[in-house]
Amino acid sequence: MTKLSGKTALVTGSSRGIGRATALGLAREGALVTVHYGRDEQAAKETVALIEQEGGRAFPVGAQLGTPGAIDQLFAGLEAGLREHTGQTVLDILVNNAAATTPGDAPEEVTAEQLDEIFAVNAKAPFLIVQRALGLIPDGGRIVNISSAVTRIAIPTQVVYAMSKGAIDQLTLHFARHLAPRQITVNSVLPGATDNGSAAFQTPEVREPMSQLSAFKRLGEPEEIANVAVFLATEQARWITGASLDATGGSLLG
Ligand code: NDP
Repeated sequence: MTKLSGKTALVTGSSRGIGRATALGLAREGALVTVHYGRDEQAAKETVALIEQEGGRAFPVGAQLGTPGAIDQLFAGLEAGLREHTGQTVLDILVNNAAATTPGDAPEEVTAEQLDEIFAVNAKAPFLIVQRALGLIPDGGRIVNISSAVTRIAIPTQVVYAMSKGAIDQLTLHFARHLAPRQITVNSVLPGATDNGSAAFQTPEVREPMSQLSAFKRLGEPEEIANVAVFLATEQARWITGASLDATGGSLLG
């Protein structure tokens, strides 16, 4: 018996990177996983195929967060898929993972439009997703928000992204209190530099300095973040709520 058999999950932004690894991890524990994507339908279908190759169950749902109607589109697809696969619309596990990153501009260069865009995807969308999901999440459900270690250290070129991730930690804190009467846990995971497969992480100019941030002197792997998210989704993690879990390979040890 796997730890999440009979459970259903939504992982936003699971077409690649940490989201894909989390979708795979949840499916390995028996959950039916909704693989959400923004632009890359093909990549989302690949995540679904990978899950199915391992004997798991999943279906894709597209919605470009931060655009008008995206939350309605996401939940229409989610509920239709859940109904098709389970006959009902119960969502046991929500992982808010999708996020946009800034190009790394000096604070003086950041525009109001960039602020709006990052906050729309990284802060406003997760709030609205949690709010909307509450009608589907049963007592004892799980919410995992993927934050970032940049909420704990100062990287001036990442100020907007860090501000948006700070909002995620507040989402965790306040909803953890709000949902405790229903035994729903709400936690954040804080990854450090993690090789999400993007081209930037394959270049020595990025890879070397980023590797030095960790006490282990290497980049994190998506599966290493996913392992934490999957644990938080299990019954074994029922006593943890409102926490921000460091998954940085010791990057914050100083
Ligand atoms: P990736 O850039 O590899 O993947 C991002 C995912 O989010 C993709 O599936 C993408 O879908 C989706 N996404 C992005 N923008 C939108 C949008 N507007 N609407 C819908 N979906 C969207 O991310 P990572 O795996 O690197 O990061 C995952 C999480 O971990 C994020 O929250 C990130 O902030 C956090 N994190 C990552 C770190 C790292 O070093 N990698 C470090 C600290 C935190 P699609 O391509 O289909 O549009």
